[in-house]
Amino acid sequence: MAKEILECSFCGRKKPETNLLIAGISAHICDRCIEQAHGIVLEELKQSGSVSLAGELELKKPKEIRAFLDQYVIGQDQTKKVLSVAVYNHYKRLLQQQGEDEVEIEKSNILMVGQTGTGKTLVAKTIARMLNVPLTIVDATVLTEAGYVGEDVESILTRLLQAADYDVKKAERGIVFIDEIDKIARKSDNPSITRDVSGEGVQQALLKLLEGTVVNVPPKGGRKHPDQKFIEVNTHNILFIAGGAFDGIERIISKRLNRQAVGYSTSKNTDNIDQDNLLQYIIPKDVKDFGLIPEIIGRLPVLTHMDPLDKETLRAILTEPKNALVKQYVKLFEMDDVELSVSNDALDYIVDKALEYKLGARGLRSLCEAILTEAMYELPGSDERELHIDREYVEHHLNKTLLKRLKAAS
Ligand code: ADP
Repeated sequence: MAKEILECSFCGRKKPETNLLIAGISAHICDRCIEQAHGIVLEELKQSGSVSLAGELELKKPKEIRAFLDQYVIGQDQTKKVLSVAVYNHYKRLLQQQGEDEVEIEKSNILMVGQTGTGKTLVAKTIARMLNVPLTIVDATVLTEAGYVGEDVESILTRLLQAADYDVKKAERGIVFIDEIDKIARKSDNPSITRDVSGEGVQQALLKLLEGTVVNVPPKGGRKHPDQKFIEVNTHNILFIAGGAFDGIERIISKRLNRQAVGYSTSKNTDNIDQDNLLQYIIPKDVKDFGLIPEIIGRLPVLTHMDPLDKETLRAILTEPKNALVKQYVKLFEMDDVELSVSNDALDYIVDKALEYKLGARGLRSLCEAILTEAMYELPGSDERELHIDREYVEHHLNKTLLKRLKAAS
């Protein structure tokens, strides 16, 4: 008897006409039908509101968000915790809007205060990566420089649209990271009155976006153009994360803490204050005293601080994150069949120099480049299969290159 030729139970194609035929209990399905069915499933999910939102957003619990952040960001415990909750609540709020509810959850936009290079941008980027939503990073200082404030603020949304491949729905659930928000603070001691006004003007314009409004966005950015078609973007569900160094805010915090201590007429309160990390005591009033208008502060209700990076944190940044610098260099050398190893005292030395020259976490990269450039130039194509970096190697190469320049500059 001739052998029975198997066929797809859905479309009837014979096995030889398919690329793949998968057997079930009493039926078969071919690759084409699987693809088609998958398309139908996706389409269905898209149509049925909240399921698609949850599916596409990959909503995670705060502890899961925190665990994800831990893979990329070292330290910054308070910020990680606060952000995990804020982001979780923000997306819960989005899910809620699919149905109708009497209790309307308000947006939890975030304000991060911390020195430059402590990981503010990294945190925002990591969250966007985890949620799989578009992210745009804008510099608030750019907004002050141009004359037409209104237009410039809209350009934030143009960039978000670009990050979302012009998918408006996606952009409307994205994240905007506004860097250097402190630079648009109103400064009472600023001699130039016009600049003062423009700072406050930008704050006012930003306010509308933070609150939630429908904006006509020029798709290509730039000045409004009579025949450019606008795209309407609703900012109601966009999560805004603002960050800034707020240079000098420690003085404001310290003054307030001292006043409070006097108020209680005990010296105990000030004794317990960690003078090296005053930012941890920040409250919204300090930000207001620094010069952000109360309305903006009100629209950035989640206030958190970044800890300064100490030796241990810098050391961990070199080796621990998922894409830590040392891991990256190991990978680069691996591609040339070279096994890279770095001794502990070499790492300590690099961190010491980063601290000594106040280079912060960003400086770690330039230090590593200065140390390894010669090896990355010489080793590919050579017979060397191993490269061990110890303290002596680091000292030698740094003194020849970067440190020489840094010493000259200081
Ligand atoms: P900020 O936005 O606060 O100025 P960034 O997030 O741009 O700082 O940090 C600069 C770089 O320093 C990051 O790309 C990252 O490599 C490193 N870095 C800073 N802080 C941390 C941290 N806490 N954990 C891991 N890497 C960090």
